[in-house]
Amino acid sequence: TGNGLIVSFGEMLIDFVPTTSGVSLAEAPGFLKAPGGAPANVAIAVSRLGGKAAFVGKLGDDEFGHMLAGILKENGVVADGITFDQGARTALAFVTLRADGEREFMFYRNPSADMLLKPEELNLELIRSAKVFHYGSISLIVEPCRSAHLKAMEVAKDAGCLLSYDPNLRLPLWSSADEARKQILSIWEKADLIKVSDVELEFLTGSDKIDDASALSLWHPNLKLLLVTLGENGSRYYTKNFHGSVDAFHVKAVDTTGAGDSFVGALLSKIVDDQSILEDEPRLREVLKFANACGAITTTKKGAIPALPKEEDVLSLIKA
Ligand code: ADP
Repeated sequence: TGNGLIVSFGEMLIDFVPTTSGVSLAEAPGFLKAPGGAPANVAIAVSRLGGKAAFVGKLGDDEFGHMLAGILKENGVVADGITFDQGARTALAFVTLRADGEREFMFYRNPSADMLLKPEELNLELIRSAKVFHYGSISLIVEPCRSAHLKAMEVAKDAGCLLSYDPNLRLPLWSSADEARKQILSIWEKADLIKVSDVELEFLTGSDKIDDASALSLWHPNLKLLLVTLGENGSRYYTKNFHGSVDAFHVKAVDTTGAGDSFVGALLSKIVDDQSILEDEPRLREVLKFANACGAITTTKKGAIPALPKEEDVLSLIKA
């Protein structure tokens, strides 16, 4: 796990996860309060693996916001990029766990504090000190966080960071599917590394085929690595010179929340100090095996952050 700083930009919120799978929200006997939000999950995933991560985003100046900032700090994530909004509240999500372990979300965003981050509130010094800048999720949807998102990306790029993008599509939050597709693709060419899920691949290509041709239709010449995560079918990788797939590990999945973020955090923590791995297929496959194992472990416990593994857990799954 590398020493270079990975800055993860975007939202953090609380997932209320039902204590029983396969029931509607109204039927849930109770909820576990699980901190989450894709970019925050990635930061904690990196830190739990022994890497150096910072989170940049905005929280409400309320009980939940301070709880979340505390969780980042307890997990060793650099918190200097967090600002608190004095008016708006911290975002919340209610998760429905289907019997197959997949999840659906209902959001409280009214708007929430994360959407109110302004460009002038960014900690630019922190962003410039990063080796990798990771972003994605809902911060493109509305102003002012959209402008903050675009500025942070530009500053990171100018500072020579590797730009890592995970669209983390949450369709109900967009005004329309077309708008979501348009906005996601509008920043496509700025990224060095992109990770999409199989569902996002279908959505972005408009085809229900998940194959090499479909993934390669999303390729752009500025990219160094395109990844497609396939749940229990592992992951696929595409670079300028080679592509292939890496099998998943067999585990008993109870909640897939955070698996993709765990996968990304693992990958970034392994390439942050040595980006030449992206051009070396055998080494990249080793890293993706590690990332698949991280994702797999994350599905074996409820919630996102509580399920993120330590490096030793990942290595024992790989050796098992
Ligand atoms: P996302 O959260 O982006 O949809 P996935 O659910 O595909 O991402 O999970 C990311 C990675 O975690 C997968 O590529 C895979 O390696 C691992 N993973 C996810 N679900 C499972 C599962 N049920 N069994 C084993 N590995 C899994």
